[in-house]
Amino acid sequence: MRYIDKAVPLLGRSIESYMGNVVHETLEWLYDTSINHDLATKQEVIDYYNRRWVSRWKDDIRVIKNGFDSEHYKDEGRDCVEKYYDRYTPFNQSVVIGLEKRIYMDLPGGKKIMGIIDRLDKKSKTHLEVHDYKTSGRLIEQSQADVDRQLSLYALGIHQNFPEVETVDLIWHFVKFDEEIRSQRDKSRLEKLAIETSSKIDMIESAVKRDDLPPSRSVLCDWCEYKKQCPEFSKIIDNTEIMDVVDKYASLSQNEDIPKADKSVILRTIGDKIKLFSQQTGHRTVKGMTHKAIVEDVFQRIPPSEEDLRWYGLKEALKNMDLVTEDLEGLFSHPELSDEQKNSLKEYFDIERSTKVVIEEL
Ligand code: SF4
Repeated sequence: MRYIDKAVPLLGRSIESYMGNVVHETLEWLYDTSINHDLATKQEVIDYYNRRWVSRWKDDIRVIKNGFDSEHYKDEGRDCVEKYYDRYTPFNQSVVIGLEKRIYMDLPGGKKIMGIIDRLDKKSKTHLEVHDYKTSGRLIEQSQADVDRQLSLYALGIHQNFPEVETVDLIWHFVKFDEEIRSQRDKSRLEKLAIETSSKIDMIESAVKRDDLPPSRSVLCDWCEYKKQCPEFSKIIDNTEIMDVVDKYASLSQNEDIPKADKSVILRTIGDKIKLFSQQTGHRTVKGMTHKAIVEDVFQRIPPSEEDLRWYGLKEALKNMDLVTEDLEGLFSHPELSDEQKNSLKEYFDIERSTKVVIEEL
């Protein structure tokens, strides 16, 4: 749904995935700091984790398991970072040559795919290590690591991009368990994998063309941010039902007697149903009897947080423009900025896409 339909998830992210991201970002920061400055102390790393947890938090992050709250996951992630720090300090096991490193792999049939390696280290000129951090609550067995496709493809990309490399160690860090699992691949297995992956891509592409790519239920569905839109779980809304929903949305949005807070919750719930129908059918305009609802994309520029290196670049750029403002979210409407200056600032911002429902009378 994410890559082929480019669907925007209606459910928020799971807290497990949020915690995993904050742990990844903290470990990236730890290595980045130790390359460019001195090794951060354990307390500095914990402080970074805590700040990052707060600054990236969004209210739609979901806690799925009963009996747990967000603090539980925050503590769990911090515990992972602390264990990792204790295990690897003083971090001199190898030389870091890439963080969040993009690697491209050529596959038979002229296909090219890209992956992002959490950390790439050098043991010697001919020996590299691929490090992958895992925050999941399940530890894999050695036999599973030995056939894992994702890191095998990274090894393939390394051999293709660095022909002098003879050995690639694949290393999974299961940070919750303070465990490290290692594996290697020989080149003939990687060639076989390249052929298999290429034919898998062919199968997926032809299934997409036939519009016949079925969802695949698994234990992970409860954590999937697309579950609400997934045909496996969502009831297909029929045309009559949605006509009522659109008209109800229109009349509620014009009703001034409902308290503002209640109205916004009700409109969001009904609006989600219209968005879901739009996702399921591909129709951007959904008609009722008296009104029509148009589902429009909304793109918002999100400023970098203070932990993001782009924040410093943005501050420097604003200083060079003699512009003093704390309102980074409203920067692009600032009256003193020219179009040229706005264009030059775009690189410091992320773009977030969402949708909104606009109602018109028929
Ligand atoms: S809910 Fe399950 S089957 Fe549906 S998209 Fe998500 S992971 Fe796939």
